[in-house]
Amino acid sequence: MTMVGALLEANARFAETFDASGIHAPRFALLTCMDGRLDPARFLDLAPGDAHVIRNAGGRADADAIRSIVVSYRLLGTREIVVVHHEDCGMMRFTNDELRDMLRADLGLDASQIDFLPFSDLDESVRVDVRMLRQCPLIPDAIPISGFVYDVSSGRLREVR
Ligand SMILES: [Zn+2]
Repeated sequence: MTMVGALLEANARFAETFDASGIHAPRFALLTCMDGRLDPARFLDLAPGDAHVIRNAGGRADADAIRSIVVSYRLLGTREIVVVHHEDCGMMRFTNDELRDMLRADLGLDASQIDFLPFSDLDESVRVDVRMLRQCPLIPDAIPISGFVYDVSSGRLREVR
C-alpha cells in the first residue's frame, strides 16, 4: 500500500479552493535540508512564489544545488541566496563509510565513489556551503549569500558568520 491514494485525495481537497492569482516571481533562492520538520513557508512566512526552495539531504551546496541556483538567478531572476541547515540533522548521524557499508550489505554495491556529504560540525557545514557558493565562478559576487541554522525545537533561525 503506497501513499499515492491519500496524497491524491489531499490534493483534490486543496485544488477545490486553490487560487493562482497574485503569485509573483521568486526574489530569492533558499537552500535547505529535506528534513520533514523544516517547513520554510511557515518559518519564513513565505507566500507561494516568494522563493525557489532547493532541498536535499543536509541542504548541501553540491553540484546539483548549484545547478538549480544558477537557473534560479540567471534565468528566473532571484537576487539573493540563503542557506539554512538545522539542529539535529540526520546528516550528523552517519559517516560516508557507514552508509557505504550499509549499501554494500543491502545491495552488494560499491558506493565508495559517492560522497553523501555528512558532517559533524553544524556551524562549519553552513560556512563550508556558503563559501562553496561564494567561490563558485557561476555565481556573481553581487548576489548576497547568507547562512543560518534552524533550531527544530524552538523554530528559531540563528545566523552563522
Ligand atoms: Zn537535515
